[in-house]
Amino acid sequence: MHGKNEKAILVIEDEDKYRRLLTANLEFEGYMVKGKANGIEALQAVYEEEPDLILLDLRLPEIDGFELCRRFRKVTSVPILVLTALNTEADLIHILDLGADDYMTKPFSLQELLARIRALIRRSASQFTPEDLCCGNIRLLKDVREVEVGEQRYHLTPTEWNLLREFVTHCGKVLTHEYLLAKIWGVEYQNEHEYLRVYTRKLRSYIEPAPKRPVYLVTQAGIGYILYPTPHGTELRI
Ligand code: CA
Repeated sequence: MHGKNEKAILVIEDEDKYRRLLTANLEFEGYMVKGKANGIEALQAVYEEEPDLILLDLRLPEIDGFELCRRFRKVTSVPILVLTALNTEADLIHILDLGADDYMTKPFSLQELLARIRALIRRSASQFTPEDLCCGNIRLLKDVREVEVGEQRYHLTPTEWNLLREFVTHCGKVLTHEYLLAKIWGVEYQNEHEYLRVYTRKLRSYIEPAPKRPVYLVTQAGIGYILYPTPHGTELRI
């Protein structure tokens, strides 16, 4: 299973049991995994081993996950997926603003974790090809301001286009309400969440097989939205 193209994942988690469980499962999937129990070792590992993805627990002794994330972002753009038992919106928004790409709240499904890891690694591998405006089946056709979804094509209004382009260029990444409102409408609109509800509803009518039960453009309650490249379903929790 271990080929030379395998991706390296750094798991930063102080609970031994949890770290071992993650490590074993990821190795079984063919990833090369390094587990670290504290921030000092984790920082060292990021410098020395250049992982392809970091799984980061927020509650760590000495240097917590927030501070680690801030320090990682000074030296690397490697995808950071946060694993947390904390789920206050303020914490999640803070960690996303510090540069984390996505988060999962414990307990979570292993299948979902693997799907998000694949999405983040794929996105980081393709982020230097700006002409590639795709997220899974969704393709943006710039010259005609249309979106192609499978065999269907839809013409978009300028606002629809700008919003969908934001999601597609950040495929697989959580975007906060505040970020989207500031980016598309301007900083003075940062509390106008209704705008986002209206426009995400319109985007879903183009890209979702069943717009009322979205599986691609998914709401992160109280946080924002994430556009997945593959359908995002519910799984058994572990
Ligand atoms: Ca912990």
